[in-house]
Amino acid sequence: MVTTPVPPHITAAIGQLERQYRELENKRDNLDRRISQLQHQLRLAMAENGDDSRRKVTELADQLTSARNALDGTERDMAKVRLAHGQHVQAAEQARQPVKALDVKCPGCGALVSPQRTGAVVNGYRAGTFDCAACDVTFEARWSGGTDPVVTVREI
Ligand SMILES: [Zn+2]
Repeated sequence: MVTTPVPPHITAAIGQLERQYRELENKRDNLDRRISQLQHQLRLAMAENGDDSRRKVTELADQLTSARNALDGTERDMAKVRLAHGQHVQAAEQARQPVKALDVKCPGCGALVSPQRTGAVVNGYRAGTFDCAACDVTFEARWSGGTDPVVTVREI
């Protein structure tokens, strides 16, 4: 199906959101690894005795809390990016409007004429050549897609 193009700013935003999501995924994976390491170190420190190991346990527990908070924040950001991505994909689909061959009013007599030939869609517009059987006028017309196409007519 021939459609009107998706506005470049929507395509660009989708690409940017996809990059952002991949970065957040990396950040989440790093935090996951960091949390596993801290949990391991914490278990080791708790098995030891003495003031030194108590200090270490407190320190590691603090680090673990902040890593878990960072992970929660990253997962919230990922959900936001996923939502925005879905909205932009939807907007892109809505921007793709079919461009069909259109009957156009003859500039000579006002009769509705079907195109003899139609060209490819260029910049969201399709052009056609028309021959009016009623008054013998030949003309070209361009029209956009969507439910209310913009039409320009030129006699040739
Ligand atoms: Zn005509």
